[in-house]
Amino acid sequence: MLNENPLPPLASVAEEIARGAGSINRYPEFYPEHLQSVVAEWLGFPEEWVVVGSGSVGVALQALQAHVRPGNGLVYGWRNFDAYPLLADMTGARAVQVPLLPGGHQDLTGVAKEAAADADAVIVCNPHNPTGQLLSADELEEFIGLIPADTLIVLDEAYIEFVERSQRPDSLKWVRQYPNLLVLRTFSKAYGLAGMRVGYGVAHPEMAERINKFRLPYSMSSLSVVAVEASIREQRELEDRVRHIVAERERVVRGLTESGWSVLPSHTNFLWLDEPARVDQVGAALDRVGVRARLYPGDGVRLTIGERASNDAVLSALSSPR
Ligand code: PMP
Repeated sequence: MLNENPLPPLASVAEEIARGAGSINRYPEFYPEHLQSVVAEWLGFPEEWVVVGSGSVGVALQALQAHVRPGNGLVYGWRNFDAYPLLADMTGARAVQVPLLPGGHQDLTGVAKEAAADADAVIVCNPHNPTGQLLSADELEEFIGLIPADTLIVLDEAYIEFVERSQRPDSLKWVRQYPNLLVLRTFSKAYGLAGMRVGYGVAHPEMAERINKFRLPYSMSSLSVVAVEASIREQRELEDRVRHIVAERERVVRGLTESGWSVLPSHTNFLWLDEPARVDQVGAALDRVGVRARLYPGDGVRLTIGERASNDAVLSALSSPR
């Protein structure tokens, strides 16, 4: 329901974490410099281009603390990831919410217009939570070019690993071109480490340095770097799991569509049932088989792809003709 990876941690990752637990009487690093260097090397970026934090939401908070002056605008499409309004509140930003376009896409023209009017920062979520929609590289690059150079652009790619490779925008190359761009990613979803709280961002070194000023000392657990190092070693297996989740996603989309439900094509590990009038009906049917989905009354239902058995339960719960 929280768009987690449904599969338990790989045995090797869990073992490394258990081994690491033997030294949790010790503090972790003051700032997570080792973790930063591990992520940087993995990405092929120099360390000073990489920031890490307590989930990607933690990195986003640091970035907004560094860039948004209280009362100034933070623009994003709405609906969106629930944390964005919270981040606006926490940083004292004035949230400027631009309604989604029909079909669940963020209105980049509308966001750019608001940004030009008056904003310190914008956030774009790609692919989008909760609708699963993907913005193309061309759309995004045009958008980034429209944003004033002194406005922070947060490109939240929490689910990017679930996008088919040929359709994934090569966003990391843009950070070299646009010093106001922060690309945000996480180990919480495809890498299955939601409970470890490790997110990262890639940005121009000057921006990374500003973001790093808002790190809390000792805030990244010593186990987080152990889990990340073990996960990177097992990257192939984790990618196989992503392929499995994507295959399940496509199976569930087909099944629900055949049963007559309006389901948007998804680029994430969840689906959007575009059924504003039937949210309660879907919620009740899923409840009966013990599946929890996120209901957005009057709007739709976000359904996280689970393990095969729970996906089967969803398909049978929603199989009856409407
Ligand atoms: N961005 C989006 C769009 C999300 O949906 C989530 C998690 N639900 C996050 C960021 C936060 O992920 P984390 O802080 O675990 O990295």
